[in-house]
Amino acid sequence: MKSLQRVINVFRKLPGVGPRQAERFALYLLRASEAQAAEFTQAILDMRLKVGCCPKCFAYSENSSLCEICSDDTRDSSLLCIVEEPKDIEALEKTKSFNGYYHVLHGSISPIEGRSAEDLKLKELLHRVEEEKDTIKEIIIATNPDTEGQTTALYLADMLRDIGPKITRLGYGMPLGGNIDYIDEMTLSHALKGRTKL
Ligand SMILES: [Zn+2]
Repeated sequence: MKSLQRVINVFRKLPGVGPRQAERFALYLLRASEAQAAEFTQAILDMRLKVGCCPKCFAYSENSSLCEICSDDTRDSSLLCIVEEPKDIEALEKTKSFNGYYHVLHGSISPIEGRSAEDLKLKELLHRVEEEKDTIKEIIIATNPDTEGQTTALYLADMLRDIGPKITRLGYGMPLGGNIDYIDEMTLSHALKGRTKL
């Protein structure tokens, strides 16, 4: 059954999905009604078509419009927090300890995985910081507490140092390694409060 195996193979490519789980997903869709199966494929196609990036912070947004956070003018415009991925914003928002704005890099510098500074939204960041340098008082670098995140943080600090705002890094108080979105809210909240100058 080539076509069933093909669907299993597709699910196998999803992060964290093993062979048995992939098979369960495929069989579920095989037994589902035509309408359910159509909803599944249509939802994915629709998402691919409609979800773009916020033109200001580069978080995901519907139809590439200004995202909810960037549209909210009650937030503190003196604080800009730089994160690697859109999901990191959600993790930081959950702490309720940060009320500024964000910039998403879409990755980190990783020579081993062949990702350099040019692959990140750095030009856009530089442009934004220069444009808002009278407003932004502090840039908080919230890249992951791993080697790539650290490399990226130091690169950013060098790049932004001469523009003016104070540059800080989350004070994790925990060993190196891991992702921001795996850190529990309490620890992340402490990391925000205990940020250190870079
Ligand atoms: Zn935005």
